[in-house]
Amino acid sequence: MAHQPERPQEYVCEGCHTIVAGTARGDPPDHDYAQPDECAACGGTEFVELQNYPSME
Ligand SMILES: [Zn+2]
Repeated sequence: MAHQPERPQEYVCEGCHTIVAGTARGDPPDHDYAQPDECAACGGTEFVELQNYPSME
């Protein structure tokens, strides 16, 4: 796989549109990122991966 800069996956809360960094799971270099359990801002539990989030207009 091509080298990629280490960068956490980010998610957008569907409730309040806050961007939240994912939670790292596992140990490098095999870790991945999971969406947060709950939005710290509104308590919502639905998230969309930032790259999949519809462009904001
Ligand atoms: Zn939220």
